Amino acid sequence: MPTSVDNELTAFSDTLAVHALTLRRTRTTTLQINLGHLCDLTCRHCHLSAGPGRTEVMSPETIQEVIACARRIRFSTIDITGGAPELVPNLAELIEALAPLTNRLMLRTNLTALGHPTRRPLLQLFKQHRVILIASFPATNSSQLEAQRGAGVMASSLEMLKELNRLGFGVEGTDLELHLVANPSGAFIPADQEQAERKFKRDLARKWGLSFNQLFLFSNAPLGRFLAWLIQSNNHQAYMEKLVSGFNPCTIDGLMCRSLISVGWDGTLYDCDFNLAANLPKKSPVSHIRDLVDPPSPGEEIVVGDHCYACTAGAGFT
Ligand code: SF4
Repeated sequence: MPTSVDNELTAFSDTLAVHALTLRRTRTTTLQINLGHLCDLTCRHCHLSAGPGRTEVMSPETIQEVIACARRIRFSTIDITGGAPELVPNLAELIEALAPLTNRLMLRTNLTALGHPTRRPLLQLFKQHRVILIASFPATNSSQLEAQRGAGVMASSLEMLKELNRLGFGVEGTDLELHLVANPSGAFIPADQEQAERKFKRDLARKWGLSFNQLFLFSNAPLGRFLAWLIQSNNHQAYMEKLVSGFNPCTIDGLMCRSLISVGWDGTLYDCDFNLAANLPKKSPVSHIRDLVDPPSPGEEIVVGDHCYACTAGAGFT
């Protein structure tokens, strides 16, 4: 898969140097756990190319190593992602073990995987442990959403949002959080987050009587299936140029990689989930979750690539 563009663009590391910036860790407070690439959907924007045919899933042994690490190091936030983490058989065990170990246990859901009869019991478990749900819901317009996520996904997503609201997630007056994540359907940088949140809240309430807490707007990272689509649709060059010209040095302080460590399905450590997709593991000294005894030290250098431009364009998003 080609990853370069026709006209040479400035490497992200060079852009940092021009601005006399380096990307280094502060205090690491978040553990992100990627349970694998298995998913029931094949979304066009997926930076991991996740899908039903993927076999990379965290083994029960690695899950135990992750739990052991969370007992050694107290992370204030633990963020479970995938693929579709709901499809991983040991998810319930992982949640029960991690919930007492952190202040904020988050889970990324695509909404549709939770609708499967064998996965529905997870809903009560999420409620019992006050799991913070971060749900992909890229658009309030059915054709736009289904162009990204596949036919029939709007109906199944709405069904699950209804169910989550019924349980109290995303409903005012409860402490059950439900946040939505949206991303552009094409090769452009997202619009203003607050304005988009107002529109989503209005549309969801008016059309379907649904509510949620906050909307997060993410740029699509030029990796995985989204990169393949950019190249195949001849949008790669223009998209990268947009990201590069939108570089905003003020975003550096707030980048998630400065305070987060990510563990992949096989236990390998990364500075973030995008580096996992780009196959750029964290620099030594420690490369596997089983060997992580202390949180990474403040000042440690973060591995970067040109996909980092997606985090630093405009207002940034991590
Ligand atoms: S992709 Fe984003 S979060 Fe990851 S290392 Fe680059 S800037 Fe940091």
